[in-house]
Amino acid sequence: MSEIQLNIALEKIENPLQKALAGGRFVYLAECHVPEEERSIVQAAERIMPLAEKMWSLDDLCGGLAILDLPESSFSAIELLSALPENKRNCNCAFLSGSGRDTEDIISELKHAAGAGIRNITTVSGDALPRTLRECRSRQFTSSINSLQLIRDAEDFFPGSTINPFHYRADALWGTLSNLKRKLASGAEYLVVQSGWDMLQIQTLSWYMLRNRLYTPYLVRLTLLTPDKVERIVSGEVPGVRISRDFRKLLEQELCGNSAQFEAAQYRRLELQAAGARLMGASGVIVSGVTSPGKAEIVARKLRSALDEFKCFEHWLDEYNLHQAGVEMTNALHNYRLYDRVLRRSYPFDEPPTGNDPGVFPVSRSERFGQKLRKMFFANAHCHRASRDRLMKKLLASCRGCQHCRLPEHEFVCVENCPKGLEFGPCGGVREDGKCEIGNFECVHVKIVRYSSNRKPQNYLE
Ligand code: SF4
Repeated sequence: MSEIQLNIALEKIENPLQKALAGGRFVYLAECHVPEEERSIVQAAERIMPLAEKMWSLDDLCGGLAILDLPESSFSAIELLSALPENKRNCNCAFLSGSGRDTEDIISELKHAAGAGIRNITTVSGDALPRTLRECRSRQFTSSINSLQLIRDAEDFFPGSTINPFHYRADALWGTLSNLKRKLASGAEYLVVQSGWDMLQIQTLSWYMLRNRLYTPYLVRLTLLTPDKVERIVSGEVPGVRISRDFRKLLEQELCGNSAQFEAAQYRRLELQAAGARLMGASGVIVSGVTSPGKAEIVARKLRSALDEFKCFEHWLDEYNLHQAGVEMTNALHNYRLYDRVLRRSYPFDEPPTGNDPGVFPVSRSERFGQKLRKMFFANAHCHRASRDRLMKKLLASCRGCQHCRLPEHEFVCVENCPKGLEFGPCGGVREDGKCEIGNFECVHVKIVRYSSNRKPQNYLE
């Protein structure tokens, strides 16, 4: 952690988004990105103003914008938000990406936010794609947890963070869930669930939070699909978003109809997802694909009617199953489910569910032998100079060299091998087979979970 301290005194400013989340009002934010090519921030703000005004007028749904960072843009989401009218800034939230930013950059963004009276900041570690492994390694990433810790130093921000529950291997899901607890412990006051279509995983997350008495509000990111977007998802171009073969086929069938039929199917899917998320406990939705005030209005109408139509979980479930036509959302290869009977009933408060323990994860003989050696040589490496035994560390632990050795704290796996340099847990991009989103190797943090399950009983299920 850097020594730099964020020392900002923020005035008390009205925060409609925070109020809505605390008061249980359903929130509807339209997702938009900072533009890649806009010449000036004024032009960019002018461009999104019509959509923003429409969203702010949706009082009953606590409408606003969720502005996403693009590292390639010449300005940040926080800067763009600060170009919008002052009295409306906290109807929205700005994403703060750690990609291409070090601690000082994050602090400077936070200072800018504080100066502009912006309170709602969603921290993300940032996408690695479409960069190569080498580009990624040479790039600075600040993890969402580090950003949250920096924000915690200044009172009155309302920070949140993202989570990707769409994992179908126990080790990847467990890594994510322990990361979730760390994010909450680091000050996240709301969560944003990464885009996905599998309502089963959203309900799993909701059960996990209830089971662990984590009553933090969360927003679910939904996507209003267009034919273009379907093609990008099908070809795996959208970071962290993977779909099953069956679901791909369903989308391809929908593409075969005319454009009105395709659009109707997407709106119905959106309605069902939003209503289902609400019944599972979500506090609102962030919808991508809302590109104009007209679309924002249509989506608002659909959301209102869906929230009205589905007041009971069983009714929603029948309709959802009908719409999905029994399509499996997971590929057969990995299909770990944390709880039984998810997506068959609402949360059983009378008899809280117990997580499925997949037992000990496989660790090969050579991995076990390597672990023994590392433990023997580096058991106290965190107490010594990081450069001590560097060659041995390189040979036995693929050490990449850093300022402070943390091998004993991470099952003797060098976390510097994560191309984003993340220390606390996996990013949202871990692939279906547990591999890193950028390279053809096991995600460093999945490996840590796998090794740790062999060493001591884990308590991820609670
Ligand atoms: S090693 Fe894991 S956490 Fe690091 S970039 Fe790859 S998938 Fe993300």
